[in-house]
Amino acid sequence: MTGLATGGGAAAAAGGAAFLAWAVRGRSSAVFGPSVWRGRRDRRAVALTFDDGPSEGTPQILEILARYQARATFFQCGANVERLPEVARAAAAAGHEIGNHSYSHPLFCFRSRRFIEEELRRAQETIAERTGARPRWFRAPFGARWFGMEQAQRRLNLTGVMWTTIGYDWSLRAEAVLERMAARASNGAILCLHDGRELRARPDIGVTVEAVRGLVPLLLDRGYSLETVSQLL
Ligand SMILES: [Zn+2]
Repeated sequence: MTGLATGGGAAAAAGGAAFLAWAVRGRSSAVFGPSVWRGRRDRRAVALTFDDGPSEGTPQILEILARYQARATFFQCGANVERLPEVARAAAAAGHEIGNHSYSHPLFCFRSRRFIEEELRRAQETIAERTGARPRWFRAPFGARWFGMEQAQRRLNLTGVMWTTIGYDWSLRAEAVLERMAARASNGAILCLHDGRELRARPDIGVTVEAVRGLVPLLLDRGYSLETVSQLL
């Protein structure tokens, strides 16, 4: 029976590991705090979201969105907001929603509750101070949640937002990003792209800009309205 018991234990451990992996990274997991990953399916609307900004490339994306009068949500990193406050402000001033993407874009797994709360709070304060917007939504760096996030979110009045589809715009070619997003867009979808690359200064976001240039008119053409996360939810 020892063998069986050990086997059972190993299976339970593997199951536990799988559960934890899903809890941390799964788009529908709310184990570490309230989290959403898509909006209603009965409205022809999607939310374009951009993480890791602001960056020097963000104005190009703002220009495309303005051309089509489309709204989006920018999950900004506090450190990038401090580096480029005028770009952060321009996104808010154009009517886009600003979300919290932590201060320094760390991986939160195995970090302390205090560290997690400080990262979220510092980003929240920096964004509010520099843009005038107080985020309601939080997107975890790398989509990774951890113990302590629920309490931090509650204290700062933040709800977690994952995504329905992510663009892999940091590694794919623009054409592939566009194809991927176009194929997976559906009512209520939250689409995730990146107007920065973590905390890098002057990141090359040419792929993202090119994908957005194709994606926005394509979505509008298909009858979707482009909404902020707050509008979508
Ligand atoms: Zn990120």
